[in-house]
Amino acid sequence: MRRVGIIGGGQLGRMLIQAGIDLDLRIRVLDSAPDSPCAGIAHEFVIGSVREAETIQRFSEGLEILTIEMEAISVEGLMRARERGVSVHPAPEILALIQNKGKQRLWYAAHGFPGPRFQLWKPGEPIELTFPLIQKALQGGYDGRGVYTVPSPAELREEPSLLEEKVSILKEVSVIAARSVSGEVRAFPPVESVFHEEAHIVEYLQIPAELPPPEIAKAQEIAMELIEALGVVGLLTVEFFYTTEGQWLINESAPRPHNTGHVTLKACWTSQFEQHWRALLDLPLGETRLHAYGGLVNILGPAGQHGVPSFPSLSALLRIPGVSIHLYGKRRSTPFRKLGHILVLSQTQKELQKKLREVRHLLEVEVHPL
Ligand code: ADP
Repeated sequence: MRRVGIIGGGQLGRMLIQAGIDLDLRIRVLDSAPDSPCAGIAHEFVIGSVREAETIQRFSEGLEILTIEMEAISVEGLMRARERGVSVHPAPEILALIQNKGKQRLWYAAHGFPGPRFQLWKPGEPIELTFPLIQKALQGGYDGRGVYTVPSPAELREEPSLLEEKVSILKEVSVIAARSVSGEVRAFPPVESVFHEEAHIVEYLQIPAELPPPEIAKAQEIAMELIEALGVVGLLTVEFFYTTEGQWLINESAPRPHNTGHVTLKACWTSQFEQHWRALLDLPLGETRLHAYGGLVNILGPAGQHGVPSFPSLSALLRIPGVSIHLYGKRRSTPFRKLGHILVLSQTQKELQKKLREVRHLLEVEVHPL
């Protein structure tokens, strides 16, 4: 039995616990919300702020390994845990780099990884890029928050930010790579995601991305080169833009399991969660290959409604062969909150797409007053 800690108690933590049980891990989770998806499931659930160094330090006492399921946490806390002999993955330096979109972009450019043309900009400085631009807050953004399309100079927000030229995107694709303590590296097949227009959250996705095999191999290669160059231990999810000109550009990456990787639970020989533990425990990494075409539909809180969610279409959905449901146990629905997901398996890509349409059509979330 190994003592491990996870910072963050959301659905990613919940699925890490599920995979950790198979390896007999003893799991302690830190989250500020007493009703988070990991509460009641973790061996030990500690309520406290993930943004406080002191809290993380205390939380990590007696742990062998410490990992994360979210990025907006205290890097200083991770450093203190490491100084006290805990194996911390991802390393605090990696997290500090990734928490800042500007630093992350500079690092990719300095190390030869492909990305859009960009500029780190402060109000008053001349713009060296061609409009339209995408303006991004340097820190704290997620699910498209802090990201703005800027058609002309007059519409720029007057704040230090990362500016990028607007890329002509054909597909948004992510590749999850893993690297173990002793340096073994593997990548899952690319996932192709379709985003909800208003919420900027993945609405549905399929694995593998519908692209020619050499393009798929290229994305996997870039992701594996990146995880090696960064020296990440654990998972690194690399979000790409595949452009209309057929180029792979890196958007950003996340050193943790990812919403787009849930499909690996049922479509791949090894899931992203099992792979994360294998990497951290320095076990051989698992086969990432597919045994079916896979899809995912996110179950999102309906727009404009707050309250207790219920899912009246579960029976209709589960009647479709190859469909399974995962509810995250969130007691409160807010607009576009991720409440669960539906996985879809199929023997052909065409049939998968048909089932995905059917699932999206049938899926219903009701919200009741608190
Ligand atoms: P977040 O970290 O909040 O998810 P992203 O940086 O991934 O934000 O941007 C959100 C979305 O904005 C992306 O999924 C993509 O659709 C769009 N986007 C971001 N950067 C660019 C770009 N340079 N060109 C075109 N679209 C972009």
